[in-house]
Amino acid sequence: MRYLILTDIHANRHALQAVLADAAVQGYDTVLCLGDIVGYGGEPGAALDLTLGLSPTGLIRGNHDKVCAGLEPATSFNDVARRAAEWTHAVLSPAQLRILVALPRGPMRITGDLEICHGTPFNEDQYVFDVGDAGRAMRSAACRVCLFGHTHLPALYSTPAHPVERLLDGDGDGEYRLPREGSALINVGSVGQPRDGDPRAAYGLLDLERSTIRMRRVAYDIAGAQAAIRAAGLPAWLAQRLASGE
Ligand code: ZN
Repeated sequence: MRYLILTDIHANRHALQAVLADAAVQGYDTVLCLGDIVGYGGEPGAALDLTLGLSPTGLIRGNHDKVCAGLEPATSFNDVARRAAEWTHAVLSPAQLRILVALPRGPMRITGDLEICHGTPFNEDQYVFDVGDAGRAMRSAACRVCLFGHTHLPALYSTPAHPVERLLDGDGDGEYRLPREGSALINVGSVGQPRDGDPRAAYGLLDLERSTIRMRRVAYDIAGAQAAIRAAGLPAWLAQRLASGE
């Protein structure tokens, strides 16, 4: 089974469409979405409809989905994120809001070997930024391969801590062999708001039979996504950061 991994789309319809076009060329069997479909970006309804149209095998909520749905107050958000969440809540249709409200909390087990979460398996809102965070997350994982999002930073941790074999090394396109013994914790990066200095949309292709993960980067219409944010009257920083990937 080849999984298309999407996370942190953040209402960026332009980035999502570019990713889906690229992934169709690469080939995949089914979709996993690790949350934060909405928030920050200017086209939350379109991003939600597109994602649901993929009929994901696994779909869980992120912290922005939760706040935009009205399930939680935006007290943990900075001013920019809060304003975007309030706007998102106001523009989504009642049916779309019902879908957001009903999104399950991670972790979600996909197979005996694979689970997905937004932040970590033990807390959907917790960030994994370094090896210490990754160790805590891996100790709480139930499966050999655990996929996460939330930081918007591509990362691959494995245990036992041996170097992960890199099979392919292109411009923003790496394929890695996962340890057959031991476990792996993987973030493929954000579709709609990359923060690693590379503004291109990020996604992943996981092949459990071959035990490989491919990290892809795709150029997309950043100006279009920025125009949607400005047209929505959202803070200018949300448009600016897309150009620098931060
Ligand atoms: Zn996010």
